[in-house]
Amino acid sequence: MDTLHYPNILIIYTGGTIGMIENPETGALENFDFEQFRHHVPELKRFNYNIDALAFDPPIDSSDMEPRYWVKMAHIIADHYDAYDGFVLLHGTDTMAYTASALSFMLENLSKPVIITGSQLPIGQLRTDGKENLLTSIEIAAAKDQDGRPMVPEVCIFFESRLLRGNRTMKINAEGFNAFRSYNFPALAHAGIHIKYEEHLIRRPQPGAPFKPHFLLDNNVVIITLFPGIRKDYVDTVLRIKGLKAVILKTFGSGNAPQKEWLVESLKELNEKGVILVNITQCSKGTVEMHRYGTGLQLLQAGVINGYDSTVESMVTKLMFLMGHGHSKAEIIELMNTSIAGEITIG
Ligand code: ASP
Repeated sequence: MDTLHYPNILIIYTGGTIGMIENPETGALENFDFEQFRHHVPELKRFNYNIDALAFDPPIDSSDMEPRYWVKMAHIIADHYDAYDGFVLLHGTDTMAYTASALSFMLENLSKPVIITGSQLPIGQLRTDGKENLLTSIEIAAAKDQDGRPMVPEVCIFFESRLLRGNRTMKINAEGFNAFRSYNFPALAHAGIHIKYEEHLIRRPQPGAPFKPHFLLDNNVVIITLFPGIRKDYVDTVLRIKGLKAVILKTFGSGNAPQKEWLVESLKELNEKGVILVNITQCSKGTVEMHRYGTGLQLLQAGVINGYDSTVESMVTKLMFLMGHGHSKAEIIELMNTSIAGEITIG
């Protein structure tokens, strides 16, 4: 085979531990340099792939992530879309699930893999998890099915041994290598001796429809996490923010809230003003069912809509995406009740 027929993979380093290399003399962590990176991961040469890399300059610690960087990532992928078979995005773990969720909405009708990975230990360190995560992500980004189509044309997170749908994923561990989970949707693949794909779970692009990147986001959204003893003045202050367009309520259990008249009245008032109110649960697993208890029903009656089994990361970014596109409230509510990128389970 000549190199023209090798899969073309683009690595995009946005920042985070995986791309930091320990200076052996000073012990300090230095920023990504692909040549040094290749030196630390000599296995990269063993792939029969053309691998290119580009890096954010300066790299972003993912705790500094902002919607404008998601726009930048979407532009990079769109600009290189035709030239590559797959993309591997290297990212800090802290907000990786937000980026994965945002990109899953922004890259409509994606027909190529966008595999996001990172690591808990820098790539130059002996016990690093970065090498494994990187090499398997590259292999997944290049994988084709029996018909020669990309195996996973989705935005995913690969970490340790699991390939997870990006908008279903959350970071659950601040120190262990097994740092991500998708509680409400099974893994799309497991990497052991072989990479075992669950083909029936993988989303495919709409046949014939072109890839359509989106670049508009609106962050006029707040999250209120309920807790016993939550104060009226706290909630009132948040709900009175100027320009507020959406409120995510992180409720108890299957979507329940304290039965406080002031809370229900404030929500009703906001709903009448056109603010979108969405209910998601504080539980990692399971879905919202507001009609199950009176404590949930009161929210439904105040105009709060169902967020189903969405992660908070997916809910925030879906709202930013929908609000960024100037939809009416009715249209947004309709799309909130639709799984647009496999992010919620309905019915
Ligand atoms: N703070 C780092 C980041 O999220 C941690 C990591 O890379 O995992 O960018």
